[in-house]
Amino acid sequence: LYNTIQAALAGAERVFEVLDERPELDEASDQQPPPFKGEVRFDHIEFGYRPDVTTIRDMSLEAKPGDLIALVGPTGAGKTTIVNLLTRFYELRRGSIFIDGTDLRRLPKATLRRELGIVLQDTFLFSDSVLENIRYGRLEASDEEVMEAARLAEADAFIRLLPHGYQTRLAERGANLSQGQRQLLAIARTILADPAILILDEATSSVDTRTEARIQKALLRLMRGRTSFVIAHRLSTIREATQILGIKDGAIIEQGTHDQPLGQHGFYEHLYRSQFRGVAT
Ligand code: ADP
Repeated sequence: LYNTIQAALAGAERVFEVLDERPELDEASDQQPPPFKGEVRFDHIEFGYRPDVTTIRDMSLEAKPGDLIALVGPTGAGKTTIVNLLTRFYELRRGSIFIDGTDLRRLPKATLRRELGIVLQDTFLFSDSVLENIRYGRLEASDEEVMEAARLAEADAFIRLLPHGYQTRLAERGANLSQGQRQLLAIARTILADPAILILDEATSSVDTRTEARIQKALLRLMRGRTSFVIAHRLSTIREATQILGIKDGAIIEQGTHDQPLGQHGFYEHLYRSQFRGVAT
């Protein structure tokens, strides 16, 4: 009994620590900013997850509305961290990020996150119908709008082949779909949300060639007319990019364009290797 009491006391202490936690301050004005055009600027930003480690050092970049910015670099370079800073899941240590000339810190987080579309490798799907899972992108969308988004995302064909079409209930986390299909649903969801700025993490895991081609086509359609930041693993994406940023150890060490691709530092070798991994050596 004594042990149980001790464990309960330790648990209670932890509960009170959580209750005492101060809520995150959102000091932004509650003025509703106009819809984003999608101009993004990083002005000498610096960031570290821990005070003694600097993860991103003195990074600056500029993206015009509609640009495709491809981020390439080895694991641990800081690509995901850049995305975390843009979504303001963490605060900068130094410098600022501006969207359409407004400092992120002055935008309410809810507005910021509504205007950002995020498609990561692991899509969150819940156990409800396919229709409702896509509608999650914009709750007030009609059934027709949801289906139109699915068509644009190249997902309509596979959805219609499911046992109950759009009414098919998904298992928790979409376990009854393939990884490629889950990604197509994520794309449909984002098309429906219609954000000005997109953040994409291209999947590295292998999907079959037909699904791969569908994903590629849907992604290009999704990116058109939006400012996109892509953690790129495919050479085809890089070819479409307006700017290619080679990231290493938290800094942009090389910049390129599709006419003037990255030269040194072995970024392409790294991409080729990850792209053709598992094919034939
Ligand atoms: P990439 O996306 O390029 O693979 P990351 O941005 O995930 O790289 O990581 C950059 C560095 O930050 C790595 O050294 C990683 O270990 C560290 N890091 C990432 N996330 C966290 C976190 N939540 N807390 C502490 N360190 C982290």
